[in-house]
Amino acid sequence: MRSCEALAIRGPELVEFVRVDMPEPGQDQVLIEVSACGICGSDLRPYRQGEMKYEFFGHEFSGKVVSVGKNVEDFKIGDRIAAGLEQACGHCEPCQRGFPNYCVLSANQFYPGGFAQYSLVNCAQGFRPIIKIPDAIDDVRATLYEPLSCAMRIATRVAVPRGSRVLVIGLGMMGMLAALLIKKSSPDVYIVGADTSADRIAQGRDLELDACVQIEPGKLPASPIMAPTFDVVIDATGIAGVFRLAVDLAGLGGTVILGGVPAGTVDFAPLPIFRKELTVVGAKGPYPYPTAEGGSEALDLLLSAEIPWEKLVTVFPFRLAKEAFQGAARSGPLKTVLVM
Ligand SMILES: [Zn+2]
Ligand SMILES: [Zn+2]
Repeated sequence: MRSCEALAIRGPELVEFVRVDMPEPGQDQVLIEVSACGICGSDLRPYRQGEMKYEFFGHEFSGKVVSVGKNVEDFKIGDRIAAGLEQACGHCEPCQRGFPNYCVLSANQFYPGGFAQYSLVNCAQGFRPIIKIPDAIDDVRATLYEPLSCAMRIATRVAVPRGSRVLVIGLGMMGMLAALLIKKSSPDVYIVGADTSADRIAQGRDLELDACVQIEPGKLPASPIMAPTFDVVIDATGIAGVFRLAVDLAGLGGTVILGGVPAGTVDFAPLPIFRKELTVVGAKGPYPYPTAEGGSEALDLLLSAEIPWEKLVTVFPFRLAKEAFQGAARSGPLKTVLVM
């Protein structure tokens, strides 16, 4: 049996290379030779806890199709792909109700995932967690296809009114991308970024958000820019307690969007939601964005020069995965991408 190298979580904040049997595609699967894989916040959670869940460890990858199961007709050997939801099954209950981001087939998409030399991709019943990419998108940029479609969900979850004030709390990759997408589609919106990290504030300024404010955990910010009158507040931190701050800073009739994957619980008095008649919405990616011509809006965006993609990504070679994970866990780079 041939084998290949994969990264495995071996304890809290510890990743190591292991050898796994070379995956063989079943009839509904394709095998990908991985080129690059980004580290997502949802990879850092099991990393910190020391729990290995293969099917979700490394889901922001790009690569090349090297083997195709007999039931899969729309990929061939040599196709370059990016991981991310291109198409849900369309038949399961969530799909039928208009929630492709909850397709029941989205569990167990990959094995062992993108932090490996090779990964299987499940493509049963029309479900496509990968998309073919054009040559103009390189392997590193292609890893942004999945996080981009998550950020698009956040940025388009509600119609942002013209001339409104938008606050993004948490300037990690999700928050920063959502801010840039809103700015791109609505240039007259005033966007404030807030974060506890001075580095993230500097990055927000570099990426030309209208204002960036460093905040302290658990404290209401004193800056006049942070007056509680925001039309839209996006909580992209993934920290449950920040929800309270988001609700406090929303203005009358405002909307609070939960864009991170909120971990933990919050002791919370809901009165401001009632008093200010707030709307609270979740925004769960990845979400498919097909165009009428059969393309993908997210891929079109990746080709656009309006977003400074190079500034968002820090590249590490695969063999420095330990260091890359340590840096990503300390909220260093916005997006760390491992390259094979
Ligand atoms: Zn992700
Ligand atoms: Zn489905």
